[in-house]
Amino acid sequence: MKTLAEIAAQLQGYDPQALSADAVNDFLTRLVEPVAGTEQVGVFEALGRVLSEDIVSPISVPPHDNSAMDGYAFDAAQLRAGAPLTLEVMGTALAGKAWQGNIGEGQCVKIMTGAIMPPGLDTVVPQEFTQPAGQARISIPPNLLQPGDNRRLAGEDLTHGKPALHKGARLGPAECGLIASLGLQSVAVHRRLRVAYFSTGDEILSLGEPPREGAVYDSNRYTVFGLLTRLGCEVIDMGVVRDDPALLEAAFREAAAKADAIITSGGVSVGEADYTKAMMKKLGDVAFWKIAMRPGRPMAVGRIGNSVLFGLPGNPVAVMVTFLAFVRPALLRMMGSTETQPPLLKARSAEAIRKKAGRTEYQRGIVTAAPDGSLHVCTTGNQGSGVLSSMVRANGLIVLHHDQGNVAAGDEVDVMMFAGTV
Ligand code: AMP
Ligand code: MG
Repeated sequence: MKTLAEIAAQLQGYDPQALSADAVNDFLTRLVEPVAGTEQVGVFEALGRVLSEDIVSPISVPPHDNSAMDGYAFDAAQLRAGAPLTLEVMGTALAGKAWQGNIGEGQCVKIMTGAIMPPGLDTVVPQEFTQPAGQARISIPPNLLQPGDNRRLAGEDLTHGKPALHKGARLGPAECGLIASLGLQSVAVHRRLRVAYFSTGDEILSLGEPPREGAVYDSNRYTVFGLLTRLGCEVIDMGVVRDDPALLEAAFREAAAKADAIITSGGVSVGEADYTKAMMKKLGDVAFWKIAMRPGRPMAVGRIGNSVLFGLPGNPVAVMVTFLAFVRPALLRMMGSTETQPPLLKARSAEAIRKKAGRTEYQRGIVTAAPDGSLHVCTTGNQGSGVLSSMVRANGLIVLHHDQGNVAAGDEVDVMMFAGTV
């Protein structure tokens, strides 16, 4: 494990007082590692987990050539351009068992979707395209089919002996279905990441406490809980911790003993007259950053014991934005995932946006599709870092990059869609 100073020494132009968003991600990639420890879990339990080994297909899927339609299977060598083809129906092939029988010239088999293609037959004419042509006979109109139409090939989805999924894949509904299609009852995954979090600040009220002048209810605890739960982490909720050295020390020690990562909110900005920063410094190897970003800016990062610390700013929007931009990719890496950065989408800005070059701005955006399918985005209005309703209205963050300047109406901008993360 490298110390913060060792990581900093590897980075060109590392300036904790003015760190770019890219430099933050670069630093965090070097700070965190995938957790050791794997387990074998059933396919239902595998949802949201990260594979710790490649999965090599033990079988081919589908196992046999089969029909993609309800219709009639026949040998397409008999098709003649411009002429209908009339065939005698010799029987019915049902899904789940092989049809027994021999087929010759001028004959076909009625076949159901998923049924094995009888030997020698390569094409299926869908039921609705055929016409009756007397007792047990059908006619196929001319110029309708190509050889191989409506036949699924054995192994066209997954091939026996080839990798089906790679180590580091996060398992969603499609992946779980795919694993089941291979007949696998369980898979090897990284153990669940344990993340402890608490809010700090004497002005922060827990739910159930009566309102008090100058105090606000703790919302960060709930947004962080939601973000971590969506990510598939095991959460350790430690509530609000008062600005008292003994309580803070106990909280940090407990969190470090129980969790792989600790997330706090509040108490890391410059003017803080509280004990949070002092306690982080006392108990761990922690750097205090000013990030060239908006919202956000102050953030503490480091290690306390064997846990990675993310000391987020207090403002509710800044918490969510710094989580999505930096903490989420770092936690995904710790979870063993190889895909840690969300893809950005391009959308046309419906409005001019003022933006200073030299910092990254994450504006709350509402992306909509125009009737022609093009994507447009408008901001949610008030972009204050405490305006949590802007996150509620938004469906993504407009990412205005470090070197980018003002945006004119109609310009293309990048958007990090929330899609299941928020
Ligand atoms: P700080 O980073 O501690 O200076 O806090 C910045 C702002 O965020 C202050 O207005 C705090 O009251 C507010 N804040 C801090 N923690 C929370 C929290 N857990 N829930 C809601 N607001 C908070
Ligand atoms: Mg504070």
